[in-house]
Amino acid sequence: MERLKIYVAGQWREGRGDEMVSSFPADGSVNARLKMASLEDVEEAVAAADLAWRAPSWRKTMPHQRAAILYRVSELILERQEELARLQTRDNGKPLAETRGLVASAAGTARYFAAACEVLEGELPTQRNPDVMTISTYEPLGVIAAITPWNSPIASEMQKIAPALAAGNAVILKPAEATPLLALKLAELFEEAGLPAGLLSVLPGKGSIIGEALALHPKVKKISFTGGTRTGRHLAHIAAEKLIGTSLELGGKSPTIVLDDADLEQAARGITYGIFSSAGQACIAGSRLFVHQSLYHPLLTRLAELAKGLRIGNPETAGVHMGPLINAAHRTQVARYVALAQEEGGRVLFGGEAPADPNLSAGSYFLPTLIEGLSNQAKACQEEIFGPVLVAIPFNDEADLIEQANDSVYGLAAGIWSRDFSRAMNLASQLEVGTVWINTYKTFSISTPFGGYKESGLGREKGANGIKAYMQQKSLYLALNNNPNLWSD
Ligand code: ADP
Repeated sequence: MERLKIYVAGQWREGRGDEMVSSFPADGSVNARLKMASLEDVEEAVAAADLAWRAPSWRKTMPHQRAAILYRVSELILERQEELARLQTRDNGKPLAETRGLVASAAGTARYFAAACEVLEGELPTQRNPDVMTISTYEPLGVIAAITPWNSPIASEMQKIAPALAAGNAVILKPAEATPLLALKLAELFEEAGLPAGLLSVLPGKGSIIGEALALHPKVKKISFTGGTRTGRHLAHIAAEKLIGTSLELGGKSPTIVLDDADLEQAARGITYGIFSSAGQACIAGSRLFVHQSLYHPLLTRLAELAKGLRIGNPETAGVHMGPLINAAHRTQVARYVALAQEEGGRVLFGGEAPADPNLSAGSYFLPTLIEGLSNQAKACQEEIFGPVLVAIPFNDEADLIEQANDSVYGLAAGIWSRDFSRAMNLASQLEVGTVWINTYKTFSISTPFGGYKESGLGREKGANGIKAYMQQKSLYLALNNNPNLWSD
């Protein structure tokens, strides 16, 4: 068992807050202990960050020099892919196959924003006024607060740190209480890659204390948050009061839709992956299944077979599909939703409880679960469960389907399964969501913007414009004659 230090303004040292434990969700064994950050640590990190991003040595770095640091980080991540994947698995219990993919994606994110930084150009707006020439440049915002959840730390953390640093800012990262390990490891890699001290601090701590203090700090100029909608809304209020920007990646209750012309086997496999991977602990999980009546029974039968074939177990074991939920309290909450669904008339077709296997009793495992017989108005269809619980609803009429699919406060993602692309595209255009997957689910590309409609978020991460989300534009007017204003006569 390791004792960890936190990373404050280029120094590795004990936090001045309370003791925190990182434990392995599969059996509760302790991974590491550390002392969390305190409010004084926040103050110190923000003050140093504010000096660091303003320092001429950083302000004047050429884009390719900033990019070089990110390229190096990307290489270091790939060199240590296995170590990082194992660390992530220890922290949040995701199976190794998934965490290896997340680590590779974090390396890709660092590389992508290095490239975006190198090719970023200012603008020469159309010159409509012959008396002046205008130029618009992009400048950093200052100190960025990055606040992240426990479900995919390495991916969500790199998605914030890389574009923010590439843009010339400083970043204070506040990882989730349950998952401090990866964030601290990332700080090590950035330090090794030559990032000047002060530009990145990692402050593990309680959201309501450390996250809140960061968001409120007058020197913090943007809050980049991934997490629950309730916290996101609270942070948006803080940002509104300070008149600063936010990027909010929030919850979801994504519909996955099977049209009557779908390839049933492809749909069944995609739906299974879309809801049961990460044990359903994903904001994008496809948790509401709408199936055309003609395929409803065969599809549900196939889903039951596929679920039976899923290997549930220790996420460090090769070939495991589903690990445990993050902790016991979360499992209780997931089970409560299943009970609530039953009270509302739902029938559990499979799962609905913890596995009976005594070898799994030390972790908060939950079986893949399928419920039918509910209306889209049921709580299990309207609220984010964040567990391996799928609700199936048959439909006949496409207009009615669209109404139900859109009848949600959330609008993060949707899946469509159909052999007819024009039909699927037409349907996609009517869904109020930020991402639509057609004949696939949960596939990602760093060059494609990601974010939610409605209460699933504000702003977009990733994509070539992702770096501009951490910048502000400055426009310059250059007089082209000696008579530029009305009072010159
Ligand atoms: P989840 O439901 O995914 O745990 P949360 O919104 O509770 O989502 O947490 C996501 C991140 O937000 C975590 O790092 C958490 O510590 C942080 N957080 C929670 N409450 C606050 C708050 N009041 N201010 C700032 N950060 C917070």
